[in-house]
Amino acid sequence: MLEIKLKKGKEKAVHQRHPWVFSGALDKIMGKPENGEVVKVISANNEFLAYGYFNGQSRVAVRLIEWEEGQEIDAAWYEHKISAAVNARARLLKNKDTDAYRLIFSEADFLPGLIVDQYANFLSVQILSAGIEKAKAIVIDILVKLLNPKGIFDRSDATARTHEGITAENGLLWGETPAAFIAVKENGITYHINIAEGQKSGFYCDQRDNRSILAAYTAGKSVLDCFSYSGGFSLNALAQGAAQVTSVDSSPLAIETLKQNIALNEFDETKHIAIQSDVNKQLRQFNDEGKKFDIVILDPPKYAPSRSALDRAARAYKDLNRRGLMLLESGGLLATFSCSGAVDIETFKQIIAWAALDAGKEVQIIKQFCQPEDHPVRLSFPEGEYLKGLLLRVV
Ligand code: SAH
Repeated sequence: MLEIKLKKGKEKAVHQRHPWVFSGALDKIMGKPENGEVVKVISANNEFLAYGYFNGQSRVAVRLIEWEEGQEIDAAWYEHKISAAVNARARLLKNKDTDAYRLIFSEADFLPGLIVDQYANFLSVQILSAGIEKAKAIVIDILVKLLNPKGIFDRSDATARTHEGITAENGLLWGETPAAFIAVKENGITYHINIAEGQKSGFYCDQRDNRSILAAYTAGKSVLDCFSYSGGFSLNALAQGAAQVTSVDSSPLAIETLKQNIALNEFDETKHIAIQSDVNKQLRQFNDEGKKFDIVILDPPKYAPSRSALDRAARAYKDLNRRGLMLLESGGLLATFSCSGAVDIETFKQIIAWAALDAGKEVQIIKQFCQPEDHPVRLSFPEGEYLKGLLLRVV
């Protein structure tokens, strides 16, 4: 196995089990490892530190996977890691009301660049590192053996792959091609998912817990669900007896799927309005019309893909939240989210405080939202904590 020596002092983060070694930390590469090849990382004093996937093209030059010296990174190693991830979710997987879960969550499950979501009998896979790409055949074999899916679909069309120098993929990896829409359940509500073309890997199962927490506040209320996608928050509100739900999303596929979902669950269509539009534009229009809601939900896409985008993202979050808050009166609720890893909860609170000030509203935090347990956060890898949210009451 080829070795990579770190600069003096750079072993500290590796000892703390942080899984990323940046290219600037490398002192010497012994030999010419291929992208994705497993290498041994050693300190400036030649002591063993860890094994990881090398990538000469990425800012993260080594993605660490194993800290035990002498451990072979073979099929048995992959099987051990994959079954550990699946077993850790055994309690969730027993739930009869839900069959959409994240089974493997990249660094959080010690498999950097591998994301596996289960949608009923199908698996949707994202391979976002050259290391996992190299081990793809082994990984697929193990998933088939352990989970016996009907089909495995590759949704690795994310920009992350370009940073790793691997081309986008989208297609069947194993078994049966899923139908254009397959049905899954989450907390007893049925959703259609388009595995091949839906956003992310088809569904945002990271909002599962937050949808049901928020639903408890919606009975008899008028709810505005911004960035609704296929209706996660809207459908939960309708199930809990919301008086009126308005969903806004710019994607035609999202709105089409949402309408299918209302019908699938036999919810009262007269209580729901779907608007295909840009959220900022729609919020401006509602404000111009003097429209008010009891509850406003803001679940935008990732505004800050990296730390360098933080300033611009902060302004976008602020404007969005200011507009959302203007639609609420005293006692109204704002559920606001950020899925940007670069925006931590304290920064997010600060941004929302500015938005409230600009909107002329005094607000109280009555709940904080986070990722569900199938998206765990390793304390040694705080970057994995991407989803956060606040439930605010307008005083
Ligand atoms: N709340 C959703 C997930 C939201 S994901 C759920 O519970 O499933 C973000 C959504 O924002 C996507 O559906 C995307 O189509 C939509 N979107 C992105 N930019 C938008 C914009 N400017 N206006 C309206 N919708 C937008």
